[in-house]
Amino acid sequence: MHLLIMGPPGAGKGTQAGRIGEHYKIPAISTGDMFRAMRDSDTPLARQVQDIMASGAYVPDDVTNQVVADRLVADDCAGGFLLDGYPRTLDQVAFLDGVLKEADCELDAVVSLAVDPDELVARLTRRSATDGRADDSPEAIRTRQQVYVDQTAPLLEVYRQRGLLVEVDGLGEVDEVTRRLFSALDRHAGSTPATSAS
Ligand code: ADP
Repeated sequence: MHLLIMGPPGAGKGTQAGRIGEHYKIPAISTGDMFRAMRDSDTPLARQVQDIMASGAYVPDDVTNQVVADRLVADDCAGGFLLDGYPRTLDQVAFLDGVLKEADCELDAVVSLAVDPDELVARLTRRSATDGRADDSPEAIRTRQQVYVDQTAPLLEVYRQRGLLVEVDGLGEVDEVTRRLFSALDRHAGSTPATSAS
């Protein structure tokens, strides 16, 4: 099973990604978490990544692509994976296409979690009070939403055209969203040519 989960900052990707990973017994790989983990290392690259993240901008594609490529060769990815927060740019889409082709595998579905923009800002503002993430400041929240709209939202169309997009309403209780998500994934699996009876 090879899956992606996409959605604007605050859509609840991380929470749902964890549940999808458990369900299909595949690793849920978050580029945001991997970059946050770099905080512990005091290298020039780690410092650059921290500054970029705190501003709400994207880490450069070459850095991000390399981090992902290195992660996907790990043993636990042999049976599949769920990427949370990657790809976010067209360049990353092309890079991932190459990695998948090399490994002779294909994406099964791309989950898109959709949430109203006002609700997203409200969620992130609430989270900033509890989690203390550097990129949950009001300016960084605005930047992240805008960067998502400009650079990442167009990717949904790319995956829609490939017949991979599974859109899920991300508004409501976490468990309710999870239920919606699995039934949408089941419907998608039942309608793809490889598994359909017709
Ligand atoms: P969110 O979805 O709320 O922005 P993430 O934890 O997924 O949170 O990402 C946090 C930050 O990590 C992003 O704002 C960006 O700076 C960096 N990042 C994560 N994934 C990518 C990516 N695929 N390309 C570039 N930057 C990324």
